Amino acid sequence: MSAVLHVRGTILVGPQEERDEAWVIGGRLTFERPVHAGAGEVESVSGYVLPGLVDAHCHVGLDAHGAVDRETAIEQASTDRDAGALLIRDCGSPLDTRFVDEHEELPKIIRAARHIARQRRYIPNVGEEIEPDELVTTVRVQARRGDGWVKLVGDWIDRDSGDLRPCWPVETLTAAIAAAHEEGARVTAHCFGEQSLHDFAAAGTDCIEHATGLTTDSVEAFAAQGIAIVPTLVNIANFPKFADAGRAKFPTYADHMVDLWERRYETIGAAHEAGVPIFAGTDAGGQLPHGLVAKEVAELVAAGLSPLEAIGAATWGARAWLGRPGLDEGQDADLVVYDSDPRADVGVLASPRRIVLRGRVVA
Ligand SMILES: [Zn+2]
Repeated sequence: MSAVLHVRGTILVGPQEERDEAWVIGGRLTFERPVHAGAGEVESVSGYVLPGLVDAHCHVGLDAHGAVDRETAIEQASTDRDAGALLIRDCGSPLDTRFVDEHEELPKIIRAARHIARQRRYIPNVGEEIEPDELVTTVRVQARRGDGWVKLVGDWIDRDSGDLRPCWPVETLTAAIAAAHEEGARVTAHCFGEQSLHDFAAAGTDCIEHATGLTTDSVEAFAAQGIAIVPTLVNIANFPKFADAGRAKFPTYADHMVDLWERRYETIGAAHEAGVPIFAGTDAGGQLPHGLVAKEVAELVAAGLSPLEAIGAATWGARAWLGRPGLDEGQDADLVVYDSDPRADVGVLASPRRIVLRGRVVA
């Protein structure tokens, strides 16, 4: 590694702020030209520069069958990194991925510890499966194991009614979310259907994953309360597949899923118009492969975000929401370099030229 890395081109520090030069010294970013940088020890990268992308819904340590081994988790995180995702909000994992923090070459992870699910109302081998009377205690335990987030499964198919149904009574949720906040953690929840969104908003949630069941009323509540959503449109694309798998036994559920899928862009577009904060997340790890963050940004554009807004949902905006720095003086140099301007075509995000993590060129 050379002593100084010179970053040149169009450095997109914020949605409205550009610089044309920066330096990386000792892994940290600075906009002040170093005095003693001799020509021989300077390596340079140039192009269009963004802060390391954020995948705000990603599962390192999980595959379709449950927890994976450490090697596989490292492969997953490497794939995310090579796609430019240098900060991951891990939305629940049965594997304790704390060891990833020892790997300088792997993305930074903000963990939600384990999913909290209702008994027999989630994918087997993934969550802590409990009943409502255990919710408050379980939330406290998971809050202490994570990095400031708790993840609940908010709704799932109910085999008796044959449709999506909320997993928790509102009063229990309200107490559980208050407990998480007391522990210093924010709460998010997997919600596909309509009713769970009303319940979680009433109970004071901070965020919702997927949020396909948003309607005019719940959009209003989300906007008023500043509840963020991470739609994971690349995974919503699979709803017709989920519907087909359940159609023989649960036709109502199947029709419901197809309806949610058909109006997905309209739903997310309406939330955006109303001012609901939206962030880019892929849901990699369960059904989907890792490394899809660029594809999700393109999906957010399809839902009605401008290219600049969609980029912000995976960079500046997402980092501010998660309390992490972007391209800021003195902070870790976590950045991605592209050949052409992603603001003109977000498709560019799929082909990073160089990736710099903790000041080191890693790809
Ligand atoms: Zn997920």
